[in-house]
Amino acid sequence: MKILSSFFHAFNAVCNRQIGRGTWLSQCGMCRVSSDSKFQPGFGLLFDIDGVLVRGRTPIPAAKKAFQRLVNPQGQFVVPVVFVTNAGNVLRQTKANQLSHLLGVPISQDQVMMSHSPLRMFKKYHEKCVLVSGQGPVLDIAKNLGFVKVVSIDMVREAFPLLDMVDHNRRPKLLPSPIVNLPKIEAVILFGEPIRWETNLQLIIDILLTNGNLSSAHQNQMFPHLPVLACNMDLMWMAEAQSPRFGHGTFLVCMESIYKKITGEKLKYEALMGKPSELTYHYAEYLIREQAAQRGWRTPITSLYAIGDNLMTDIYGANMYNCYLKQRTSRKSSKAVAKVAAGTISSTALPQEEDMDNVWESELALPSATSCKSVLVCTGVYNPHTEVPRDTNQAIKETVFHGHRDFHFDPALVEPDHIVQDVDAAVELIFEREKFLIQ
Ligand SMILES: [Mg+2]
Repeated sequence: MKILSSFFHAFNAVCNRQIGRGTWLSQCGMCRVSSDSKFQPGFGLLFDIDGVLVRGRTPIPAAKKAFQRLVNPQGQFVVPVVFVTNAGNVLRQTKANQLSHLLGVPISQDQVMMSHSPLRMFKKYHEKCVLVSGQGPVLDIAKNLGFVKVVSIDMVREAFPLLDMVDHNRRPKLLPSPIVNLPKIEAVILFGEPIRWETNLQLIIDILLTNGNLSSAHQNQMFPHLPVLACNMDLMWMAEAQSPRFGHGTFLVCMESIYKKITGEKLKYEALMGKPSELTYHYAEYLIREQAAQRGWRTPITSLYAIGDNLMTDIYGANMYNCYLKQRTSRKSSKAVAKVAAGTISSTALPQEEDMDNVWESELALPSATSCKSVLVCTGVYNPHTEVPRDTNQAIKETVFHGHRDFHFDPALVEPDHIVQDVDAAVELIFEREKFLIQ
């Protein structure tokens, strides 16, 4: 198959036309004639960015090659593709522009999923006054996601200058007269690690303990607290330094610990977003389905492939979503069997509204995928040459698993379905599995 694949690749390059299920015609007339309606992809691809397409600011050479396979001569993708990153400090359009430049193919913002993208679905908070914490254009990002009343940490600090007292140099020189012109805060949204953690931690805890009314004192029985929605749980991340750096997950650990120490209660999240959360994959799949629909592809997207370099986020998340899809499929079939047995539906009837498992499914419509395969590449965090400890499970639990407090370690979830050298090899493998390139 590999030899055939290489041959067809070389042949394809000469003809400047892809063949097989990829839909377009040969200039020389020797390639198989195919049409859009006949050859439609039944699968979609989820790409991690850091460690798969880039290292720091340097593109990984295999990425450009891989993406040349994924677009036709008109620059259109031949399969639905979504970029799923835990980054959250830029707008989707900015990330799409960076990727277009990097990969040499046009990427639209609808193909980019940041850790905060699922917040679009939380419509019940869009009209409420929300506090946002993070770096970059947080107010613009929040407004872009649909929030209309957005307050930043700096706005809170300005309105309540007596609250931020850790840095002696930032304390007000004169006792200011109280300024209370902020509306009551109704939810807290954490986009990513902020600058000046002490200020953010202090003001967020103040908001939770005053129920969003900062002109009042802390109250003891403020539980359950205001809704907290957090994006990106990565404890650490790899930059240019030799050792990993603090990520937003570390900030969350601080906040959870402080809240628990002060109140004796566990801080609760209304939602946790970003890989490996299931919600992220629900949303990514929704974007894949939307792309397929826009292209007029009617073949249901039944297989997803998630390509990443991190066992704890990309592989764990993809495998967890795969478990969800499997359970959902078996639940659906057992429900259908029960209903048929009870005579309430015919054996050919489609699942009804009541089969929707949760609010995300009702918001995003039912998933069409039945599997999500994890593909690990060796160009980023994962190092295939690292010596394997004798007791892998214990070692991962003690030293490697940096998952969030609300995610449990399961060794089966960090086992990739496939390991390949780089993203180009990943695309080749997937095309072969799906018989996409060769009929
Ligand atoms: Mg990565």
